[in-house]
Amino acid sequence: MNFSHRLLLLCSLVGTFGLTSTFVHSRRVDAADTCQTPALSRFQRHQVQNGETLESIAQRYNLTTTTLVNMNPAVSNGQVTVGSELQIPPYNGIVVEIPSGQTWRQVAEKYQVRADTLFEINGCQPDPRIVFVPAGNVSPNPLIRQSSPPTDTQAISISGYPLESVATVLMPYGWQIHPTTGEAFFHSGMDLLAPVGSSVQAIAPGTIVFAEQQGSYGQLVIINHSGGLQSRYAHLNEIQVAVGEQVNQGDLLGTVGTTGEPTFTEPHLHFEMRSSSDLGWVAKDPQGYLQD
Ligand SMILES: [Zn+2]
Repeated sequence: MNFSHRLLLLCSLVGTFGLTSTFVHSRRVDAADTCQTPALSRFQRHQVQNGETLESIAQRYNLTTTTLVNMNPAVSNGQVTVGSELQIPPYNGIVVEIPSGQTWRQVAEKYQVRADTLFEINGCQPDPRIVFVPAGNVSPNPLIRQSSPPTDTQAISISGYPLESVATVLMPYGWQIHPTTGEAFFHSGMDLLAPVGSSVQAIAPGTIVFAEQQGSYGQLVIINHSGGLQSRYAHLNEIQVAVGEQVNQGDLLGTVGTTGEPTFTEPHLHFEMRSSSDLGWVAKDPQGYLQD
């Protein structure tokens, strides 16, 4: 049985028996206090209402439609049936049965998830049979869609630095444990420590496509670059550019601030790199794009 068949079978089992009843029993009661309730025990059920679509349900739970289809093989044609029930995971991701002879550490490596994060998300079980593997680097509601797909599909190398001098990384990109709540979350960018008022600059030439308040990002500037790449600068104090403006590398965009819902109270720049895909703007690890 190949992997996708296994996953499908697993999902069918999940659909038939319900996750909560199936997985609650596999929970270790002696797990350390610091561990979360396993992600598999935190699935919700959603009964499809009149007028709902796969997209609207995904949006409501801040998930991608891909995640919903993975968890609910019955909707793989993209259609939902009024009255049917969907399994709703706490994050984007997939359910994986650990192949015999393998460990969850090997699964973490295969799916490029930090081993300690996978461990905590799954309730710190020493030897789980089935794990939830988070896959959260996709923005479910892309703020900006490209008016036309990028014509240049070659990898264009962009490198620059969004601050005037190299800053300490408060939190890197990827799955992280929130410093205050202890919850796992996907950090879609990198937090660079800098005092309020520090200059924030464009890492490469491009067009400003967003320059205003946006939810937890606070004051946000987004630049679209050539090659289907995008950079985002969040929690700004002041914005000094406007939508439609062309900027060059090093141009002033605004200043570091604490607007929105920053993860840390220490002032920092939340910096993101994203690339255009069928699923929207997918977050990338900014590290590869940073060069002072
Ligand atoms: Zn951040």
